[in-house]
Amino acid sequence: MVTIALSKGRILEESLPLLERAGIVPVEDLGKTRKLIVGTTAPDVQVVVIRAADVPTYVRYGAADIGIAGKDVLMEDGGDGLYELADLGIARCRLMVAEPRERPPAGEGHSWTRLRVATKYVRIAQRHFDAKGIQADIVHLYGSMELAPLVGLADRIVDLVSSGKTLAANGLVEVEHIVDVSAWLVANRAAVKMKYKALRPVIECLVGGAMHG
Ligand code: ADP
Ligand code: MG
Repeated sequence: MVTIALSKGRILEESLPLLERAGIVPVEDLGKTRKLIVGTTAPDVQVVVIRAADVPTYVRYGAADIGIAGKDVLMEDGGDGLYELADLGIARCRLMVAEPRERPPAGEGHSWTRLRVATKYVRIAQRHFDAKGIQADIVHLYGSMELAPLVGLADRIVDLVSSGKTLAANGLVEVEHIVDVSAWLVANRAAVKMKYKALRPVIECLVGGAMHG
């Protein structure tokens, strides 16, 4: 049995056509079913649908043989024990630093001395500001990062952007580009060796479909 870990949400939407081109169609509608583990039309291939940030963990421990995860998630995770097999070119966006277009009036919410940065990507943000020699205090949030600068929780945010509409709607502008993001195919290292025969056609079809899609 080959188990593929898929990220819920926008990566899933863009993964399904790729899987379909590889001949892997879930036997239930993943948008509707409450099942978390679903068989597919491909013999001996099943998918698990999990939070994006959990994909590296499932694959690292071998609970899934391969998975599809955003580069953002892989960078934040560190990717130890995983093979990053191929950039699938889907779910493209960019990771950037943003701040309010107009600086808040002096004295308002600025009692702190160091730069404060709100983000879900604590490790990436810390590394980014360290590399620039800027001392930053990272405030860990789980979502809606755009709100933080508006209510005096942070000076800047590190977050993903695709259209830029959410930033604009909240009066924020991009000030630094950290990295371009897309979803990658990752694999458990041991599985690549032990289950090579079963995994190879699946990997080849997914990568081939991504290249020609
Ligand atoms: P979660 O809320 O569990 O993090 P999402 O459905 O928001 O899950 O999916 C997040 C993943 O989707 C990110 O890790 C990223 O790789 C990808 N992605 C692509 N475009 C965007 C975007 N504009 N904003 C957020 N995530 C995006
Ligand atoms: Mg989200």
